[in-house]
Amino acid sequence: MEVSCRGPLFVGIDIGGTNCRVALVDDSGHVLHRRKEALRDLSFDACLEQIGGLVTAVLQGQAKSCDDIAAIGVGCPGLCYAGKVSAAANLPGWRDVPLAQELQQRCGDRPTFLVNDADAALEAEVWTGDESIRDVEDIVLLTLGTGVGTGILSGGRLLQGSRGCIEGGHVIVHPGGRRCGCGQNGCVEAYASGRALGERYMEKMASTAQPTEKVSGEMVVKRARAGDQGALETLSEAVEALALLCIALARILDPQAFVLVGGVASAGDMLLEPLAT
Ligand SMILES: [Zn+2]
Repeated sequence: MEVSCRGPLFVGIDIGGTNCRVALVDDSGHVLHRRKEALRDLSFDACLEQIGGLVTAVLQGQAKSCDDIAAIGVGCPGLCYAGKVSAAANLPGWRDVPLAQELQQRCGDRPTFLVNDADAALEAEVWTGDESIRDVEDIVLLTLGTGVGTGILSGGRLLQGSRGCIEGGHVIVHPGGRRCGCGQNGCVEAYASGRALGERYMEKMASTAQPTEKVSGEMVVKRARAGDQGALETLSEAVEALALLCIALARILDPQAFVLVGGVASAGDMLLEPLAT
């Protein structure tokens, strides 16, 4: 369905460690058309190719072209600064890659801006999200997807550090604990990301009489809901890691609210109730 729209149009690109989502939005933040695809190959060049194709498909879905777009916003996990991704734990091989510039070239040379995905999610939530957090000036957002990201608004200002290196998911909560994709041990992400939930559950089941096939984080949540003991323990470890992170962030930043988004946040009450206590 084509939607008529008078104001400027924008393309939003959300790159994850598993999927990529592309949306056409208006200047009020309304999504006019969107598409999601699993990333087939996580190498930088392959992702550029696939994302370029997704942008074209989304524009064509509304009978638009790159010429109709005012600008492109890109959210990507990892360390994003000055248009480049310097490192991303869940996108192996992405080191100092000029993501904004490459996408701009593939998308009709429209102005293209790159930010960390959790920062992008935070900006979107306070702009168009639930009314209770609109225009709130002190807020922390956690993205619980393939990895764990943090976006922080303090006094109405997005905190990005000196080099865009604020990565709450890689705060160590269990010294000497599980290995994380970033190279450290015991990070929040090594317990609470979707990938970690699946891996941790399989580790637990491997030592029982019921080893399991590969499972996703969302499947672990589903099994926990059904009362599976291994899944409940896995989720409990994730809650503990997230709680330690949230307590530390609360002590340092004194936010008015925490917001949890992403695939693992679909655990909803199973995650929020123990976390709130
Ligand atoms: Zn880490």
